[in-house]
Amino acid sequence: MKFGIDMGHNAPPDTGAVGIRREDDLTKAVGTQVIAKLQNLGYSVVNCNPSWASSVLDSLRKRVQAANSNRVDIYVSIHFNAFNGQASGTEVFATSSAGRKIAAPVLNNVVALGYYNRGVKNGSHLYVLKNTAMPAILVECCFIDSRRDMDLYNTESMANAIVKGLTGVSPVEAPPPNQGTPSSPISANPEVLKLQKALNRLQIRDRNGKSLVEDGITGPATQSATDRFHSIMDLQTLSAAGAATWKAIEEIFERPILRPSHATGKAVRYLQFRISSAIDGIFGPNTAAAVKRYQQSNHLTVDGIVGSQTWNKLIG
Ligand SMILES: [Zn+2]
Repeated sequence: MKFGIDMGHNAPPDTGAVGIRREDDLTKAVGTQVIAKLQNLGYSVVNCNPSWASSVLDSLRKRVQAANSNRVDIYVSIHFNAFNGQASGTEVFATSSAGRKIAAPVLNNVVALGYYNRGVKNGSHLYVLKNTAMPAILVECCFIDSRRDMDLYNTESMANAIVKGLTGVSPVEAPPPNQGTPSSPISANPEVLKLQKALNRLQIRDRNGKSLVEDGITGPATQSATDRFHSIMDLQTLSAAGAATWKAIEEIFERPILRPSHATGKAVRYLQFRISSAIDGIFGPNTAAAVKRYQQSNHLTVDGIVGSQTWNKLIG
């Protein structure tokens, strides 16, 4: 069995949508992992992404040509949706009945992660589905401009769901660190305790919107809060807290003075998360306006600059 995996766009001028996150970044992240996981399971995989394209049509033609000339058995194009900020969920396009049979389990596995089920849809208007010679699907993983979807989004779980949908086999996942094997007793880990305290101070809640119990044990609550923090920090490829996680936490705890048109980076991403501004890590005019609204509603000096007063309010 040979798969053709197409990471949508990523071939300027063929670029994807931009919302809270960039479609190009996510299709590449998920696609890269899907390819690796399929290969780990023993499948041969053709990466159908062109390295360059002269036009959008040329980009699409090259993807189809890669699939057809390599005679892959199943073609999978990975995309992310964008609409009006309100729409959310997963949909998978197919044209043939063979394609629909492949689409359904992929959709079901992604939806099992918590995304709204938008169904298997007719993709006869889609160039790559119309022109590939084999059963083909196009996965719209979720909406990059939906806060709900982006909070839920995790690269590794998305890739695992797609691979399980395609093969019926769940890719082997590294066991969560500090959790021990089921037979060994779970004991408190100081590093995990430190992480729980940091996430609580940062007001990063678990999947149920609750603060973490500071017990030094990595359970689903701590894992979901960690995933959420990684997603905010643009570290969603991490499945567990690591050096990059701690670097980001330290950067925030340093409470740097953030000024419009000057500040960038992890502290800005965190700020944007807290004041409900689009998270892009750049302190532009929209972020400045949101800072002012936050200062106003918290009875702080309204200057649009995040100094010690505003940091005190944000993280104490
Ligand atoms: Zn797309």
